[in-house]
Amino acid sequence: MLDKVIKSSGLFQDHCHVAQNKLDPWKIEPSKASKDCRNFIREIVDNLDLQPNPEKPVIALSIGDPTIYGNLSPSPETVKAVISIIEEGLCNGYAPSTGYDYARAAVADYLSYDGASFKSQDVILCSGCSSSLELCITALADGQRGHNILIPRPGFPIYRTLAETIGVDVKFYNLIPENNWKIDLEHLESQIDGNTAAIVMNNPSNPCGSNYDEEHLRNFLEIAYRKRIPVIADEIYERLVFPGQKFVSTASLQSQVPILICGGLAKRFLIPGWRLGWIAIHDSTGAFENVRKALISLSQRTIGSNTLIQGAIPSILQNTPQSFHENLSNVLALHAQIAFDYFTVIPGLTPFMPEGAMYMVVEVDLKHFPEFESVLQFAKRMMEEESVFCLPGECFQITGFMRIVLTVPQEVLEDACERIAEFCNHHYME
Ligand SMILES: *Cc1c(COP(=O)(O)O)cnc(C)c1O
Repeated sequence: MLDKVIKSSGLFQDHCHVAQNKLDPWKIEPSKASKDCRNFIREIVDNLDLQPNPEKPVIALSIGDPTIYGNLSPSPETVKAVISIIEEGLCNGYAPSTGYDYARAAVADYLSYDGASFKSQDVILCSGCSSSLELCITALADGQRGHNILIPRPGFPIYRTLAETIGVDVKFYNLIPENNWKIDLEHLESQIDGNTAAIVMNNPSNPCGSNYDEEHLRNFLEIAYRKRIPVIADEIYERLVFPGQKFVSTASLQSQVPILICGGLAKRFLIPGWRLGWIAIHDSTGAFENVRKALISLSQRTIGSNTLIQGAIPSILQNTPQSFHENLSNVLALHAQIAFDYFTVIPGLTPFMPEGAMYMVVEVDLKHFPEFESVLQFAKRMMEEESVFCLPGECFQITGFMRIVLTVPQEVLEDACERIAEFCNHHYME
């Protein structure tokens, strides 16, 4: 009966007719935002078309994931915390989009040290620090209004990816290699213009491994204050500094500058795949009153972060012993020293000793490697001959440098350093 009605109405026939005529392939044009979304590391690495030497096992000193070799794992307390949350069955539902209040409170406590003080309402939980950064950039900068944000060079490429996807321009400010990669403050100031909506800073730094002292941070904040530009502080490596170093959080300086501090569990707790990050709002003057609301609105786009990890956060933050963090710092410092000692005597290379985070930057003096026009080519050939791959500085917007990760097991690092030495000795020209 229904069939008849449809047929006699002509609807069915018309429908068939349309479908038959539409034989050209069905191609949907994706959005501008998706086309403006670029992964700079992938673009560069894919372009290199890497071919390792089949006779040597590949060592990737390029992957910024501390868990891949299995030598670094989360604390037993961290693992137990999540298991018991699953077993309790109380975190299977939706949390508020900014996170459970007790989880936000636990992060607020965790970040309240050295004079910094946060309450649960100052914390927004996100799906990893990347997601925190996305919310902050989206909350502060407007593509339609021609806004730009300032980002460090060298620096983590995701800032640019996040900004450009929403039509926000980036302008770079330089870090000074000879000065432990501190910010070139004069250059920073010269880059600020009437459309600058925020300054992104990253301390400790990926890729540099630098750890800014209080004086430098104060000088940096003084510029932001005078120019009235809010700061997005990527502190994902917060307190992940080598023995003898002190990490100074921007919040501990009790500056009048409004600062959105981005962090998370990924690096210091060795669980990047668990995707738990946060924004901590530092705002001593109320300048961020509306931005606070904006961040809450934006958190609703994805209905918040994973509730199992949120449930586990208080135990993870409170029960992970200090010795776990010390051990990680010791391992990274040891690896940095080993790599530094190797690279110092390799002709044509100059390592920069990091102070924290998980990386070391090495300068490649191309004058002495005339076969290669760039570190891109240098890195490609090193993969072909020695099966060792390091990210060229181009991935972080600089030339003449490469970054190595320090999280691989010691014997792998030593093997890699020996192969890099072999490669350099082979290609070095006076
Ligand atoms: C790893 C890293 C992040 C991303 O952290 P997730 O929590 O995994 O999203 C952000 N910023 C820097 C500088 C990083 O190195």
